[in-house]
Amino acid sequence: MAGETSTATATTSVIKPKIRGFICVTAHPLGCEANVKQQVEYVKKQPPIPNPPARVLVIGASTGYGLASRIAAAFGGKAKTIGLFFEKPSEGGKPASAGWYNSAAFDKLAKQAGLYSRSINGDAFSFEIMDQTIDVIKKDLGQIDLVVFSLASPRRKNPKTGQIHNSVLKPIGASFTNKTLDTDRGIVKDITIEPGTTDDIAETVAVMGGEPWELWMQKLKDAGVLAEGVKTVAYSYIGPEVTWPVYKDGTIGAAKGDLDRAVKEIDKLLQPIGGKAYVSINQAIVTQASSAIPVVPLYISLLFRELRKRNILEGAIEQIYRLFATQLYGDKPQYDEQGRLRIDDLEMRDDVQAAVAELWKQVNTENLTSISDFDVYKSEFLRLFGFGLPGIDYEKPVDPACL
Ligand code: NAD
Repeated sequence: MAGETSTATATTSVIKPKIRGFICVTAHPLGCEANVKQQVEYVKKQPPIPNPPARVLVIGASTGYGLASRIAAAFGGKAKTIGLFFEKPSEGGKPASAGWYNSAAFDKLAKQAGLYSRSINGDAFSFEIMDQTIDVIKKDLGQIDLVVFSLASPRRKNPKTGQIHNSVLKPIGASFTNKTLDTDRGIVKDITIEPGTTDDIAETVAVMGGEPWELWMQKLKDAGVLAEGVKTVAYSYIGPEVTWPVYKDGTIGAAKGDLDRAVKEIDKLLQPIGGKAYVSINQAIVTQASSAIPVVPLYISLLFRELRKRNILEGAIEQIYRLFATQLYGDKPQYDEQGRLRIDDLEMRDDVQAAVAELWKQVNTENLTSISDFDVYKSEFLRLFGFGLPGIDYEKPVDPACL
């Protein structure tokens, strides 16, 4: 992608992590590239995805579950991919965002493997980006066989009304107090979150609910760029009771519940072309989106320990490869009673959840590192930004616009 919109400079500098609260404001280009390569290598070692989709559009393709989806489709099924994201290129000698580097690395690896890949950087909530994407599909691919909807965003400008909506992470109905983890300082403390208002709920649904997914699918259908038998999937989460007040039963849960409404509408829309829409309930993993949710990083630190002990810990790429190979394109998809695909089965195993619940009662600042995988959490978090990857010399100056 270098040269597309990046203002390349020849300056090199040593890039170190700079953490501000729950985000890291720097990223390492070579580390991000190594991270993408590792995911590609994982997929290449797995059996090929049976009957894979040939042409795939991933909305939210630069990090987390969306990036894993793009990698699984391309390297597990030789798909031609178009990836959309909202990322920052390197400017004035400053590093680009991790998602920018990931996407540049993906494009490079896809090209080396002889696979078509096109990346579009812009606001996926806007009609402008939808139209631009449709033009690219018409020109390069004709039609699309799979649309992955994997956006996680704190705000959205509604393209119909021009109104800006802001999502919030709040409980509904009553305030919620529980343990949380200050990931920056390694401190376990209580947090109280006041309940969201009706307006907060509507705002969060407007950003993270089903409407943007429906708008995309309607636009793509109207443009005639959805192939016969097209599939589309959006990602969701349920998790354990300890997180429900701030997740499943909170404002974000209301938005995720709205996906269950939207999936039915999209299914109807796709019926005439033999298409199908899915919601997939995924496992909790460390991503830029999940690190911002109170309570969740502490839960993930405990969960990872229990999953790792049982040798069943999966990251984004293991989850998504499994979703594609055994569910979306497998011959025995397993639906829950609400018709959703479930790849959170290992996370939700009774023995795992019972162990996590017991640890939850005990965990405090003093025993955090001994009874949880907080160290793993921290290293996974840094890896999201390209830090801590083997084989990278982090003391060596690097050109932040090298990708
Ligand atoms: P993430 O933060 O890693 O990725 C978000 C993606 O959205 C990035 O590619 C980003 O560039 C893109 N994006 C954000 N705003 C955009 C905009 N306006 N225009 C274009 N692109 C934009 O998030 P993630 O954790 O991978 O989450 C993806 C989905 O998976 C979400 O729906 C999330 O709720 C769901 N999910 C996440 C988890 C988890 O534990 N992380 C678990 C289950 C489900």
